[in-house]
Amino acid sequence: MVSENSDRHYVERTRKISEQKALPQNVAAFLEDPFVDMDEGDFEAYLALQEKLKKRFTDESWAAEGTMTFTLDKGLGGSGTNFSAEYDSVIDNNLRQLLESKPAQQPPEVTMRDYRRIKNIVISNPNRTFDLRGEIGNNWSVYVHADNKLPLYYSGFSNPKYRVILDSQDITTPYGLYVLFHEVGHGKRNQSESPSEMEQGLAAREKVRNREILTVGEKKAVVKDERDADAFALGTLRHFSGPQLVEEFKKLAYTNQRAYHRKLPEEEALESPADK
Ligand SMILES: [Zn+2]
Repeated sequence: MVSENSDRHYVERTRKISEQKALPQNVAAFLEDPFVDMDEGDFEAYLALQEKLKKRFTDESWAAEGTMTFTLDKGLGGSGTNFSAEYDSVIDNNLRQLLESKPAQQPPEVTMRDYRRIKNIVISNPNRTFDLRGEIGNNWSVYVHADNKLPLYYSGFSNPKYRVILDSQDITTPYGLYVLFHEVGHGKRNQSESPSEMEQGLAAREKVRNREILTVGEKKAVVKDERDADAFALGTLRHFSGPQLVEEFKKLAYTNQRAYHRKLPEEEALESPADK
């Protein structure tokens, strides 16, 4: 293939960048894997990371429904940025169908007890306003975790088939906010895909989940998808965050990308694949 060298070049280049800019591996492992062996030094580094990423911007608790508001300046910069999320506890058809597509487990009301449905999010400062529903259509459902208890390896997903975005972290924390915007980045791209592009994307993700060997072209597509989601998240959040918070978001972005580079098995260079 003409494009194979350029695909390989892309994968190599982005892999190097992610290795340079990600969080140190001894703490990054905790974002990916609940069963990491740790020595005492790692554990302390992990606790420090967790404390930073899960520190809430507000003391306000989530109710069954209402509006969560806070100012994004608590010790982290972002002066004058107001965050406002309108939410309820409805389990809508998109989510119900997604849950029903999985092997029967608990009733949705039990599974989703600690989640809230986001109706809209508006973030604004004197220079700029972000409106979630301006990015992602009303036919998409957005759910977020409301008690900040889940460990760091719970992140989120965007499911284009059922049009559900789910964030397993509390969006009133740096980590939860980043995960949400990363997933919205995926969703925004998903909603402009044709049905066949969507099927292709889902098939590639299925291969990733099953740890199947990807062609270098497939690997590039997945890595690029992740970079695009991070670009949307960083490109949006940087307007509302102070420099320290932006640095944390960047580290999360590169750490996520490095994880994909590391976990995607790929064909060796110059190998002649059997599927020709
Ligand atoms: Zn992603």
